Amino acid sequence: MARPALSLAPQRCDKCMRCLRACGRRAIDVGAAFVFVDWDRCDGCGKCAAACEAGAIRMRGGPPPARSEASVGPAPARLEAAVAAERPSASVAGDERVKAPRLEDIAPLAPAWTAWEVAVVLAGVLALFVAQQAALGSKWMADVVPIGAKPLVRSGVLALYYAAQLALLAALGYRKGVGFAEAFGLRRFRPLAFGASVVALVAVTRAFTLAYAVGAESLGWKMPAGPASDLTLYFGRDGLGLALTVVMIVVVGPFFEELVFRGVLAGFLQESMGAWPAVVVSALVFAAFHANGWMFAPVAVMGLGCAWAALRTRSLWAAYVLHMLYNAVPVFLIFALAK
Ligand code: SF4
Ligand code: SF4
Repeated sequence: MARPALSLAPQRCDKCMRCLRACGRRAIDVGAAFVFVDWDRCDGCGKCAAACEAGAIRMRGGPPPARSEASVGPAPARLEAAVAAERPSASVAGDERVKAPRLEDIAPLAPAWTAWEVAVVLAGVLALFVAQQAALGSKWMADVVPIGAKPLVRSGVLALYYAAQLALLAALGYRKGVGFAEAFGLRRFRPLAFGASVVALVAVTRAFTLAYAVGAESLGWKMPAGPASDLTLYFGRDGLGLALTVVMIVVVGPFFEELVFRGVLAGFLQESMGAWPAVVVSALVFAAFHANGWMFAPVAVMGLGCAWAALRTRSLWAAYVLHMLYNAVPVFLIFALAK
């Protein structure tokens, strides 16, 4: 389908949000540094261009944007919540303070992903995961790679796995016509407003994991042996092993998992099912992707926390920080106890 004749100039946008109110098809999103139009939803009606006094959205070759607000109605709750999520002490109307928004009223985390794009991402990541697991468990890895080189080779395999994911995600994000950050909800996150909530979620999810591990152990259900059960066997227990573990398990891995399971999947479900179903379903899919029955419950609970943080703050960074801290706790405990 040909793109409607809209011309976007995000640098002119003053964040008045009139275009969101004017667009009956929910095809527009406006953030700190972007104006996004979902071309699959847009029918080219031009109401957004007519509402945009700043000239950030214009009809190509059309008249200058209208200065009148006649066609623009009152701010919807969704818009007020979008502003409140980013600036809780401000309001759309002026000095009046806005109450904390309900999760359902907060604007979407990311530009609307389509079902087939989500399917491509999940299928692609699953295929890459299977290939990565096959390489790590291969005879070549067991018999040919020298013991001393195994940590570096394993890290190289993981690096290729993440590089392939980056290529897939960047290609799909490029189709959106916005930058990589905007495509995945990597918006500015205000640590002073939400930092305490993120730290509290780390504590709650880690406490659940500890209680779960103790309970499972008492019932005779031990965590299966493998990389997740002892990272020092996998990456080595020296300084290099700690560095590789931190890079792969604390820094890089969580970033890609957040892009896929919150930036794409939760963002898509938020638009198609609503915010709370998106939090629950994305967490369950996230846990299932770990392909480890013992870890399903704790990973799902951590996924709930990450999805909530991402949708509540409209920023993937909040979920990423939570995920990093959650992973960092066992990494540093394991290496400290291994000394
Ligand atoms: S042209 Fe119409 S449908 Fe398209 S973004 Fe603007 S208001 Fe929405
Ligand atoms: S109407 Fe124009 S200036 Fe206002 S938020 Fe939309 S794009 Fe920005």
